[in-house]
Amino acid sequence: MDFAKTDEQELLIESIEEFCSRYFNEDLIESMYENGSVTDEILKEYLEAGFGLMGIPEEYGGIPCDKVTLGILTEEFAHHAGCVTSFLNNTLAMSDMIEFGSEKQIEFCMNAYMESGKPIFSLGFSEPAAGSDNQAMTSVTKKQADGTYILNGQKTWVTQGELLPYVLVVAKDEDPSRENKSMSLWLIDKNTKGVSTAPLHKIGQQIMPFCEMYFDDVVLTEDMRVGEKGVGFVNLMKNFEMERCLIVAQCLGCAQAALEDAAQYATMRETFGRPIANFQLIQEKLTDMEIALENTRNLLYKTLWKMDQGESVRLDSALVKRYGPKACYEVASEALQIFGGLGFTTEKRVGRIWKDLRGHMIAGGTDEIMVYIAGRQITKKYQA
Ligand SMILES: Cc1cc2nc3c(=O)[nH]c(=O)nc-3n(C[C@H](O)[C@H](O)[C@H](O)COP(=O)(O)OP(=O)(O)OC[C@H]3O[C@@H](n4cnc5c(N)ncnc54)[C@H](O)[C@@H]3O)c2cc1C
Repeated sequence: MDFAKTDEQELLIESIEEFCSRYFNEDLIESMYENGSVTDEILKEYLEAGFGLMGIPEEYGGIPCDKVTLGILTEEFAHHAGCVTSFLNNTLAMSDMIEFGSEKQIEFCMNAYMESGKPIFSLGFSEPAAGSDNQAMTSVTKKQADGTYILNGQKTWVTQGELLPYVLVVAKDEDPSRENKSMSLWLIDKNTKGVSTAPLHKIGQQIMPFCEMYFDDVVLTEDMRVGEKGVGFVNLMKNFEMERCLIVAQCLGCAQAALEDAAQYATMRETFGRPIANFQLIQEKLTDMEIALENTRNLLYKTLWKMDQGESVRLDSALVKRYGPKACYEVASEALQIFGGLGFTTEKRVGRIWKDLRGHMIAGGTDEIMVYIAGRQITKKYQA
């Protein structure tokens, strides 16, 4: 077993630290949370520094790298920025398109991405009555006599849905019933007649708001379909494992920042004539926080390493998504506790991190659904 980082990975971490110290400060982060987006300048710089190209194949102008390195990139950005960002969503969106899109669609999306550092589309998957239970979705396209399709339906919690000009929508083919498993992906310009959005107000992660999206008799043409007919959902599922890992990597970086803040504060804050760090109850908190992060880190990077070896991570990715966000959220909660009253103010970033991490126990598949996925794999693994 080799836990050492490569020279390239060490260099990557140094450059992330340098980038974050240049571009991320608390005043700017606060204003980005207020404005609901990372600034255009940072998105562009992130791309130009090469971070936003990592994991994209060379033929499309990217910088290929292994999945462990993508995990490090995501964790260390969250760690040094001290907040969640849309970089993770952007990387995932581009990899969906590169994996399933036609050459023409990839070129179109890559050109837009290279210009702004923003993917051109958000992902519309969940519906008000179909989140965990995706099969219950009712958004549907129906073919017309002239060869076009009509889309009707509603999507919700679409991250960056109002900010980005296009949306990648999953919809059932022809029949909205539960029994129909045939679904396709469609890349839709939000300016198309019949598409509308309404804002939703998040309690955390406001740097990347989500929204409702409505599709009323929207006319689609065959060239807007992404990937093969009928397999849109199956295609997206393939990428969920990586999405779950990167969500955990982001949690880990944010929780690490909260732990560092709290540990430093504990050495400075005095009660009863001594720094609180000297009290065993505080030391116990710090010890358990460190253990939680180490466990998450080990589980995460072993999963990513297995992906790099081409091994199945169906079980591992569910375990890490089940364990990591909750463990990191609890670390942030204990960090807030160490700050006492100050932790419950906006003076310190720990409260923001705590709220942001709560969302990651739901996004990308809830903690409970991870048990559902892992449980089936575990019983299969140990069956007599
Ligand atoms: C921050 C954030 C970002 C998101 N971004 C996007 C996005 O960009 N695009 C998109 O399409 N969606 C997005 N979502 C939606 C997300 O995927 C769903 O919220 C999630 O899948 C859960 O679905 P739901 O909210 O309908 O909850 P439900 O499925 O209604 O579940 C409600 C509760 O019941 C539990 N539950 C459900 N089924 C079971 C079961 N069988 N056994 C035990 N417990 C169960 C759940 O775990 C949950 O606790 C985002 C959500 C969040 C919080």
